[in-house]
Amino acid sequence: MIAAHRGSLLHFLDDPSKSSVDSIFEYYDDGLLVTENGLISDCGDAASLMPRLPSGTKLVQHANSLICPGFVDAHVHYPQLEVMASHGEELLDWLNRYTFPAEAKFANPEYAEVCAERFLDELLRVGTTTALVFGTVHPNSIDAFFRSCEKRNLRMISGKVMMDRNAPVGLTDSPESSYVDSKSLIESWHNKGRLRYAVTPRFAITSSPEQLNLAGLLLKEHPSVYLHTHLSENRSEVDSVRELFPGVKNYLDVYDQYDLLGQRSVFAHCIHLDNEEWSRLNTSGSAIAHCPNSNLFLGSGLFSMKAAVEHGVRVGIGSDIGGGCEFSILRTLADGYKVARLRGEDISPMQAFYLATLGGVRALDLEDRIGNFLIGKEADFLILDRGATPIIKHRLDMSKNLNEQLFAMMMLGDDRLVKETWIMGEKSHDRDANF
Ligand SMILES: [Zn+2]
Repeated sequence: MIAAHRGSLLHFLDDPSKSSVDSIFEYYDDGLLVTENGLISDCGDAASLMPRLPSGTKLVQHANSLICPGFVDAHVHYPQLEVMASHGEELLDWLNRYTFPAEAKFANPEYAEVCAERFLDELLRVGTTTALVFGTVHPNSIDAFFRSCEKRNLRMISGKVMMDRNAPVGLTDSPESSYVDSKSLIESWHNKGRLRYAVTPRFAITSSPEQLNLAGLLLKEHPSVYLHTHLSENRSEVDSVRELFPGVKNYLDVYDQYDLLGQRSVFAHCIHLDNEEWSRLNTSGSAIAHCPNSNLFLGSGLFSMKAAVEHGVRVGIGSDIGGGCEFSILRTLADGYKVARLRGEDISPMQAFYLATLGGVRALDLEDRIGNFLIGKEADFLILDRGATPIIKHRLDMSKNLNEQLFAMMMLGDDRLVKETWIMGEKSHDRDANF
């Protein structure tokens, strides 16, 4: 089945912070995105592409819209929906008071299944088509999540939490059981269709040296899986890590000692890093998930995007639900912009939309599959509505150029801006449909 989607069209070819403006993106005011059997088969100016469309192509008109690749959430916890917007604590208290009791419920497979469905509905509603996702310590939390993703044909990465200390009874595993359970989940799910597995120690505080050692062994035995954890989110957390691992150079060094760094390793937060940690993230090729909404909500601190750019470290944007209170990557980017301002830094509109799409995809090492509209990539894309609300319409009508439009979309947009979400060339969310 061949379909051609006509509307304004934007996608990125490279990183605006590194390349010259001309080569980083393609924008067509009247563009055409052609998909065939779930993949991109052409993309460009409608006037030149229309005459060469094969006969029988289904033409889909998207008036007053911007077509762009699906958004990427580089760090999110699917079991934490019910603790979103819980009041009044910093990270470590917040985990004990809200998060751990909520995660304990995932011992029940039926509960996990209901939550996975609700979570994915919400992701698609805000235009997130790929995410790197924490489960709970229970292997069935990952079975439930991946089953729901498989049903919807989504490209997702997830893994069971490894956590053998400093957490309540009922939410801990052991080094051996976490190794065996993770291995079995990797064998069941990694590279099954569009799914990939992430070895997921929660953070250094809740894993013993023995468990981190086995996490490293899992990566060695399965070189194409991911590593997903937290790093340097909160000052008390950093202090606790120093007490638990005396003799390490810094927080990142704990993970480094167990061979957990690399091209498919993603560290959430990275706020309180020293120079040596930044350099090591660069030399190891590891990536960061920047979660500004969560960092502001929990009072964790202000991430430096400038430092990440200067040290050449890949960055994706993460909602960090439920430490974050916003599913929308646009709303999260709006907070990212404010965090940058508070640090005397900047995030340009082009950089923001790059981070939401190709930048996030690069952080997740998936550029060979998704992230832009190059021929052969998987057709996960969004229809953004330029008339989503009266004020968005007014602001965009008043905009003088694409940069102004993108900035207004990022600062004013949310789920209402996302008119449709398409997965592998099929419509998976329609804002205006009566479900
Ligand atoms: Zn998190």
